[in-house]
Amino acid sequence: MISNEVKQQLIRIVGEENYDDSKAGRLVYSYDATPQFQSLPDAVIAPRNTLEVSRVVKICNEHRIPIVPRGSGTNLCAGTCPVEGGIVLVFKHMNKILEIDEENLTVTVQPGVITLDLMNAVEAKGLFYPPDPSSMKISTIGGNINENSGGLRGLKYGVTRDYVMGLEVVLANGEIIRTGGKLAKDVAGYDLTRLFVGSEGTLGVITEATLKLIPMPETKKTMLALYEDLEAAARSVSKIIANKIIPATLEFLDQPTLEVVEAYAQIGLPTDVQAVLLIEQDGPKEVVERDMKKMAEICKKEQAVSVQLARSEEEAEALRTARRTALSALARLKPTTILEDATVPRSEIAKMVKAINKIAEKYNVKICTFGHAGDGNLHPTCPTDARDRDEMERVEKAFEEIFAKAIELGGTITGEHGVGAMKAPYLEWKLGEAGIAAMKAIKQALDPNNIMNPGKVFAKSTRKRVVVTR
Ligand SMILES: Cc1cc2nc3c(=O)[nH]c(=O)nc-3n(C[C@H](O)[C@H](O)[C@H](O)COP(=O)(O)OP(=O)(O)OC[C@H]3O[C@@H](n4cnc5c(N)ncnc54)[C@H](O)[C@@H]3O)c2cc1C
Repeated sequence: MISNEVKQQLIRIVGEENYDDSKAGRLVYSYDATPQFQSLPDAVIAPRNTLEVSRVVKICNEHRIPIVPRGSGTNLCAGTCPVEGGIVLVFKHMNKILEIDEENLTVTVQPGVITLDLMNAVEAKGLFYPPDPSSMKISTIGGNINENSGGLRGLKYGVTRDYVMGLEVVLANGEIIRTGGKLAKDVAGYDLTRLFVGSEGTLGVITEATLKLIPMPETKKTMLALYEDLEAAARSVSKIIANKIIPATLEFLDQPTLEVVEAYAQIGLPTDVQAVLLIEQDGPKEVVERDMKKMAEICKKEQAVSVQLARSEEEAEALRTARRTALSALARLKPTTILEDATVPRSEIAKMVKAINKIAEKYNVKICTFGHAGDGNLHPTCPTDARDRDEMERVEKAFEEIFAKAIELGGTITGEHGVGAMKAPYLEWKLGEAGIAAMKAIKQALDPNNIMNPGKVFAKSTRKRVVVTR
């Protein structure tokens, strides 16, 4: 609860219009894209600049009020659900691209900038910001940094982490620090920039970021390889990379996903094959042509029943968009959609997909799988209904087994979506007790009063996916 006195102090900082504790306002920020988590915050605050963030955080720290920084709330791990109440901090005023530096190849932004707006702004200058989560039309850079988000281009270009050069951060005590910067080389002290990337709002509030840009690739080509056999598709992935080709995109969709995506996108995707690989290469024209030819040969050799090159950029864009809409398409099937991102070494993809199908059968639930095959990052997705308790229990067990299998195969519980409140009970499976203790020591050092996004990353109990209401 926020006392009236504290409320007045906060209003004096951000202005009445940027402090909302109405029931409707709180309800809007009580949930995010994660099913089955909902909890009301005490207030929603929209600071206008870093100084205001710092002053708000200082007051919250003094009064032990939880702070949940929030971008667009598209995370899939209940990362912005205010499970312990407090303040949701939104960045609708802090959404400017501050500078595109063409000499140092950097862009400096505020956290509320929409990912696609940033991409478009730099592309207009012939520059390229590769991390492309499928949610890029709506996700923010602040959210991308805090989840260390990836996308279709992750295999060749890496994920958000690989592009964050410097940050401005408001620490839990309200102090403002700067980490890194525009320097390509800088080893002065601990790498705090990396520490804050992927920290899910639990260590501080990011108020500015300097990101690396690269020159825009000259050309790009796209193709689809169709398979009657899952393992043949997975083998193609390994063979392509073993042949020392790193494609810009190497995405996988299984048959049930294809069917749903085609019903949604209606672009003529085949629905009668077991799996599809969406393959892209970019770069100088000769390299792209050589790599595409070689990859097509590899796919055919590995029993692809058909390999089709996109005939135009429009056709290629339609294929990419169809892949990016996979989650939205699947979400049309049932009232509740649970999507996970179990990740395995790419050599284990076939085993993992087979295991997912077996587990789905065992628990009698529908699971469609798609994902970043080149990264081993799969998205088993279950269309279900939260009102059906019996089915939900089976879904829960199925995903638990999927996580266990991923770890058994040398993988992890999350490749890009983060831990949040949802996967906190499973983090120890991946890190072990000592690993959790090391992370907790960092949290304790930077946020001794546990005000930054409490209830995330570290599990309080072994409680699994449940609705949290306050
Ligand atoms: C349809 C769909 C497709 C998706 N596709 C992908 C995908 O391809 N790849 C992928 O990686 N993810 C994907 N996601 C997940 C999600 O979009 C990403 O995690 C994204 O980065 C979240 O951005 P956001 O602005 O919505 O952040 P939010 O969800 O609002 O927040 C995410 C985390 O960042 C923290 N945070 C936000 N801003 C700040 C800040 N300024 N300072 C400190 N902490 C902050 C929050 O507390 C939270 O922990 C998808 C989600 C959906 C719904």
